[in-house]
Amino acid sequence: VIKEKHRNNYNLFDSSISENFKMRLTMETELRKALREGQFELHYQPQKNLSSGKVVGLEALLRWNHPQKGYIAPAEFIPLAEKTGLIIEIGDWVLYEACKQNKVWQDKGYDPVTVSVNLSAKQFHQRSLVDKIKEILAETGLSPYYLELEITESMAMSNEDYILKTLKDLRDLGVLVSIDDFGTGYSSFKYLSLFPITKLKIDKMFLKDEQRENKAIVKSIIHMSHSLNMKVIAEGVETMEQFNFLTQERCDEMQGFYFSKPLPPKQLTKFFRV
Ligand code: C2E
Ligand code: MG
Ligand code: MG
Ligand code: MG
Repeated sequence: VIKEKHRNNYNLFDSSISENFKMRLTMETELRKALREGQFELHYQPQKNLSSGKVVGLEALLRWNHPQKGYIAPAEFIPLAEKTGLIIEIGDWVLYEACKQNKVWQDKGYDPVTVSVNLSAKQFHQRSLVDKIKEILAETGLSPYYLELEITESMAMSNEDYILKTLKDLRDLGVLVSIDDFGTGYSSFKYLSLFPITKLKIDKMFLKDEQRENKAIVKSIIHMSHSLNMKVIAEGVETMEQFNFLTQERCDEMQGFYFSKPLPPKQLTKFFRV
């Protein structure tokens, strides 16, 4: 009886693996098709500077506009794109598209803003990254000062020489680099002070819960950023209370539903006029 049971369990497990595998395979095929057929879109979320009250940046956020399923959020397909390596091609498209769009806005005469692009670990660790970015800037005509790359703590905080070299090459090029979801990983003070990073983005989880500890963490990150000559932005700002708290603590910039959700390019132009 015991043997029988085990065998059944095993079979069950086995078939769920193959189901999973089939689903992944289908999605991989669909992702390739999406890239070929132009189903990806970028939406942009404004980043507001507190002292000027102006929009100074836009974060490009990837959306998959699936012909049957509608908009699919990045959390649902980026992990698989990472696993299969497709993220490199998708990421190239995102970089190119974001730079091109930002140049279009500048050519229309809007006040220049930076466009922030999220990089995945695989993209950041490509040896050809800096050359690729140079090429994209040259092709789109965007000045490097208006491109910001968002990486995460786990991607940057490493003693491998080429990480520091990549960051320095990017700085020499004039491209800005920020640390996304800051506070959730394992940053080292040594690397933070050593690495040419322009901005920390405080993870939205620290704003979500209004616990005293979280407020203390937000304050510390703001003060540390300033001591290390970095700018600091809070993500996930949703309420006036959060806005007031961050203003009082002299956070440089804010991003969140309180100002705007991520929007398609056509709906953004209103922000350039404020
Ligand atoms: P992220 O870079 O930390 O982006 C911020 C996420 O928070 C976005 O989710 C944004 O829509 C959401 N958000 C903005 N304001 C608020 C707010 O006030 N409240 C709440 N609750 N959420 C807010 P989204 O667009 O679903 O993106 C999720 C993640 O997917 C991003 O997190 C980023 O890590 C990744 N991602 C997005 N686009 C790309 C891309 O082009 N390439 C790569 N590699 N990753 C991307
Ligand atoms: Mg981001
Ligand atoms: Mg992120
Ligand atoms: Mg984030």
